[in-house]
Amino acid sequence: MSTGLDNLQQEVDKRRTFAIISHPDAGKTTLTEKLLLFGGAIRLAGSVKARKASKHATSDWMEIEKQRGISVTSSVMQFDYNGHRINILDTPGHQDFSEDTYRTLTAADSAVMLIDVAKGVEVQTIKLFQVCAKRGIPIFTFINKLDREGRSPFELMEEIEQVLGIRSVPMNWPIGMGRELCGVYDRMKNQVELFQGEDHSKIEVRKVEDYNDPKIREMAGEYLHDQLCQDLELLDVAGDPFDLEKVKRGELTPVFFGSAVNNFGVQTFLENFLQLAPKPEPRRSTSGLVEPTNEKFSGYVFKIQANMNPAHRDRIAFLRIVSGKFERGMSVKHVRAGKEIKLSQPQQFLAQDRDIVSEAYPGDIIGLFDPGIFRIGDSLSQSSEVVFDELPTFSPEIFAKVTVKNALKHKQYQKGIDQLTEEGTIQVFTTVGFEDTLLGVVGQLQFEVFEYRMKGEYGVDVQLQRMPFQFARWIVADKVDPSKFRINSTLVKDKKGNYVVLFENEYAMRTAMEKNPDAKFLETAP
Ligand code: GDP
Repeated sequence: MSTGLDNLQQEVDKRRTFAIISHPDAGKTTLTEKLLLFGGAIRLAGSVKARKASKHATSDWMEIEKQRGISVTSSVMQFDYNGHRINILDTPGHQDFSEDTYRTLTAADSAVMLIDVAKGVEVQTIKLFQVCAKRGIPIFTFINKLDREGRSPFELMEEIEQVLGIRSVPMNWPIGMGRELCGVYDRMKNQVELFQGEDHSKIEVRKVEDYNDPKIREMAGEYLHDQLCQDLELLDVAGDPFDLEKVKRGELTPVFFGSAVNNFGVQTFLENFLQLAPKPEPRRSTSGLVEPTNEKFSGYVFKIQANMNPAHRDRIAFLRIVSGKFERGMSVKHVRAGKEIKLSQPQQFLAQDRDIVSEAYPGDIIGLFDPGIFRIGDSLSQSSEVVFDELPTFSPEIFAKVTVKNALKHKQYQKGIDQLTEEGTIQVFTTVGFEDTLLGVVGQLQFEVFEYRMKGEYGVDVQLQRMPFQFARWIVADKVDPSKFRINSTLVKDKKGNYVVLFENEYAMRTAMEKNPDAKFLETAP
């Protein structure tokens, strides 16, 4: 007879929760859509398609998204495939990403790094990769747009290693590229996947002995086959062998080649990924590791999103389930608040309509109705002692001075600042000596969201003036002398009163470090 615990184990085993990281235009939307098509998408939270169309037209909060054709906040998509339940965490693909993007990655157990074959490793990919690498989660690489002329696969592998510092192991290898693309050779299964038809819509799979098999010559021609043999011989001799343990530790990334828009290589990728990617992982807490199969329900809030539905001026707290089974209506302890709360209105988002979930398991993300009781990083649990490790904060890179247009609105302004800081939408600093208020963010979009919400929710018109700083460093020192930080830099305090120096460029930062050898300069608050 199957017990509740067996059932929990099964539900955990079949889940995979991951994020796709890439630079804008690499094809993330396209790849996500293709993945969803393989499974019956059951819940699309802020659906990928909807983002680019006009489904959010009724929501004024989504106005920014609509105007700019981007997704302001990351959400989650869930689908089933081959007995697996898959959660894809969407991270905004636009240049204007925000701290939300980074924090969302903490809810993923692995990441798929999508790279454009012609462009290679780009800026935003590097930033997102580094956040994943810090956690040591497995990273799978999909090199996209093989139907276009691109860089050589060896060159791309070298770039991945040089720029990102991770070794790679190709799981398949292109036979030709661009107009000459014939297909890929699957190194694990020893088979050829042929890309066929005028519009490249057909895919044929042929089993072969190995890459020397003359059958490949018949299919691909002499020239491409010779090249394939040369490349794969080199890889066999000089390349890294596949090693699952290294993949799990984030030291080796399996690489797949394909073309998302042509649906070429996507299914193979998905199937391999499901086999190799980790199931929901335990999370660290003050009372040790919390295993997903722990019967007691627990989870943490990694993101708070305001006003998705203008009819209700409420917020949604996104919770990653870490252990146990979630059931609608259950009572849990809100650890920080020291309160028992009833989870009666958990939601998933089906485009713009809200869909109530009645049960969910580790790895799943649920949206909780939030009348203002949650903060980012809050732990909810059935056993009162579980408090998950704090979520990371990120060093701001863009700064602006904020002023209120109407001085009479000062109280609402302060309330807005306090609440938006708490949500993690912005970081606030005060200049030492002048008492100016500066905002720090990781993406330009956060300023726009700030302005928009200050006006919409607090009725305050603010003015933002960009400041020329690029780096923030928290200083830990016995004594801090403001006069030392005046050249291309300025001294400020964060909300807790910690000293922070903002620098205009790397040179100024290095000079300050050299001149203050006894001080520590930290990227985030101590
Ligand atoms: P995102 O910004 O990363 O979400 O990228 P999109 O999915 O919107 O794709 C950006 C552009 O690349 C679109 O015009 C896609 O049609 C195109 N694209 C995506 N995948 C491929 C591919 O495999 N080959 C080619 N040639 N174009 C692609």
